[in-house]
Amino acid sequence: MAIRRNLTAALAEADEADKADAIEIVAVSKKHIAATIEKALAAGHRVFGENRVQEALGKWPDLRARYPGVVLHLIGPLQSNKASDAVAFFDVIETIDRPKIAKAIAAEIARQGRRPRLLVQVNTGEETQKAGVSPADADAFIRACKDDHGLVIEGVMCIPPAEEPPAPHFALLKKIADRNNLQTISMGMSHDYEIAAQLGATHVRVGSGVFGPRPV
Ligand SMILES: *Cc1c(COP(=O)(O)O)cnc(C)c1O
Repeated sequence: MAIRRNLTAALAEADEADKADAIEIVAVSKKHIAATIEKALAAGHRVFGENRVQEALGKWPDLRARYPGVVLHLIGPLQSNKASDAVAFFDVIETIDRPKIAKAIAAEIARQGRRPRLLVQVNTGEETQKAGVSPADADAFIRACKDDHGLVIEGVMCIPPAEEPPAPHFALLKKIADRNNLQTISMGMSHDYEIAAQLGATHVRVGSGVFGPRPV
């Protein structure tokens, strides 16, 4: 089955690129229907990424009930009015990127007593249309998450500009993680995850490389 083969190949390639550490593949299942996702679950995969809270709420409760051990990452931009659902439903939120969101997430963690793992998104290419804190502000923001909001930030994520070589962006993210003592580095997608793995990714987010092209 193609999805099983894709997962196995992606894992082998990521591990080959970084022999020192096992790399986690976040299988990005956005836009795919439950039946497609279920093929990856049946193949034993448990770590998935979705970019929209609402879409995930539609597909995942039933899949989760049937496949224990799922770890769901939120990899899309987060609005503060979705903070409640995001904290209730996701295991990892990769896209903390501004004080308003940090505050809303902290309030929901306090209210719900549920603690998703948290990453800060860094806009390494400083693209105006892209979410994420700018690299120059990253250290201060990571500190503020802890000092002002009591959040435990575990790592960082980035999405490099589509039209640029990704390596400098991955290297920059790795540097930001290291100087802030953060363990988790989410970077690399289907077309560049091997480079990301070489440059220190702990998590690569692979969508089409696992599931094939997304339905439109
Ligand atoms: C869609 C998406 C991916 C996966 O993209 P592919 O090119 O299909 O691997 C990874 N990260 C984010 C943030 C995404 O939105």
